[in-house]
Amino acid sequence: MTLVIVTTTGLCNLNCSYCGGSFPSAIVPARETYDLDMLINFIRKLRADVAFYGGEPLLNPGLIMKIMDKLGDNRRYIIQTNGTLFRNLPLDYWSRFDSILLSIDGRENVNDHYRGGGVYKTVLKTAKMLRSAEYKGDLIARMTLWYLSDVYQDVTHLLNLGLFDHVHWQLNVIWTEHWNFMRWARDSYLPGIEKLVSLWAKEMEKGCVLGIVPFLGIMKVALFGEWRSPPCGAGKDTFTVLPNGKIIACPIAVDSPWAYVGNLADQSLRHVEIGEPCTSCKYFKYCGGRCLYAYKERLWGEEGFQEVCYVTKETIRYILKAEEKVKKLIEKGIINKKELYYPPYDNTTEIIP
Ligand code: SF4
Ligand code: SF4
Repeated sequence: MTLVIVTTTGLCNLNCSYCGGSFPSAIVPARETYDLDMLINFIRKLRADVAFYGGEPLLNPGLIMKIMDKLGDNRRYIIQTNGTLFRNLPLDYWSRFDSILLSIDGRENVNDHYRGGGVYKTVLKTAKMLRSAEYKGDLIARMTLWYLSDVYQDVTHLLNLGLFDHVHWQLNVIWTEHWNFMRWARDSYLPGIEKLVSLWAKEMEKGCVLGIVPFLGIMKVALFGEWRSPPCGAGKDTFTVLPNGKIIACPIAVDSPWAYVGNLADQSLRHVEIGEPCTSCKYFKYCGGRCLYAYKERLWGEEGFQEVCYVTKETIRYILKAEEKVKKLIEKGIINKKELYYPPYDNTTEIIP
């Protein structure tokens, strides 16, 4: 199924330290400048699901409501939001989302260091309001991990809150300045992944499948043989429409010529693919080339690309160590194989951190 990501605005009300806040308005305008019917036709033609993205998508809630009203409920809706503008959208629209991804990086001090003072509490308030409104979809904590993050502590912290169905993370690599990633990966991240995999497997022995998205997504390949490249679908079957009507392969590649794939005005669309060295890599089936943006841009050079590959391969190896145990638990009926079919549709979780 195709996914159309609609960037509702280039504006953001936060200024997270690894992101930099709003896009320049000349590149990503604050409001849509296209005729809405062109977007609706494009989505209908592709029979696509729709994800709302920004900037902060809830700074243009009018567009979200108009799209959902025009398209009706015969497709899935997803939103990635920083979770600070709950009141900008009426509750009946919130309840129509199949997945809601709230950005939160883990423990309060870590989150607020990256995202700003008070943000952690505000996001949790949003999660609690969705829970008390008996939100039935998939509530996902979407984390960014950086130098202060401890993957084991921050992921288990979010799981233990009992608010989120799933926790997903992305590493802050390639798209920012080159930081001491390898040292952090060796000292903190990879040991944390090993510990987290061991917790994941132990909980499964008790019949509990923790909603750790990268683990589920990689195990899905092992159990069901389903995968795509890149795992987020960018340029393959996921496309982003900017407020100026440009269609791009990846929602963050707003000004990269390689990412420009079409325009709403002529409803054109081309595909972008990942090639070597990924297609010959032993881990391609699981990794899928990881991230199209990182693959194309190589902002940390070849050395930085290899650093991230090393960490990706180690992560996949740790997760696959649990494969035999998971298969046995399924055979014994302790866990249900269906619970490991995740994500069940493209919900914008990129799988490979
Ligand atoms: S590990 Fe690196 S080389 Fe291998 S598929 Fe992933 S991104 Fe490509
Ligand atoms: S994983 Fe990479 S290519 Fe995919 S959406 Fe994220 S930044 Fe874009």
